[in-house]
Amino acid sequence: MAQDDCLFCQIVAGEAPATIVDSDEATVAFMDINPATRGHTLVVPRAHYADLAEIPDDELATCVQAARRLAERAVERLEADGVNLLNAQGRAAWQTVFHFHFHVIPRYEGDPLRLPWTPGPGDPDEIAGAAARLRDE
Ligand code: 5GP
Ligand code: ZN
Repeated sequence: MAQDDCLFCQIVAGEAPATIVDSDEATVAFMDINPATRGHTLVVPRAHYADLAEIPDDELATCVQAARRLAERAVERLEADGVNLLNAQGRAAWQTVFHFHFHVIPRYEGDPLRLPWTPGPGDPDEIAGAAARLRDE
């Protein structure tokens, strides 16, 4: 069930804007507005679960499969050298949006990213360019 005050439920429902790059019956993937690196995406289940503790095993597995698709595309289409999959469960682990999500963070040899990162607004043109490459064809 969607939760009215949840940003990611609103994105899944098309009620809030997002640059969506992939979707299937159970998941949606879209660009993070504060990308840690070029091509940083978020994979969310369509159904609302607050965090890793709440999401059922089968939906978690579907999210992992979606995250792997995005990771493969990051390597093939953005020439990423590696990928970090990251999930934050709870405020102490820096979770800020309480709708389960995986971060799919492409990594580039020598990139300056150190985890945890300090989020900052991304360059809209660069986000759009990476999205065009990552989008489901
Ligand atoms: P968390 O901190 O919960 O692990 O990750 C939440 C992520 O959601 C952050 O990386 C943040 O940049 C991203 N985010 C927050 N608000 C929005 C938004 O309105 N649109 C998009 N596309 N991403 C968002
Ligand atoms: Zn939600």
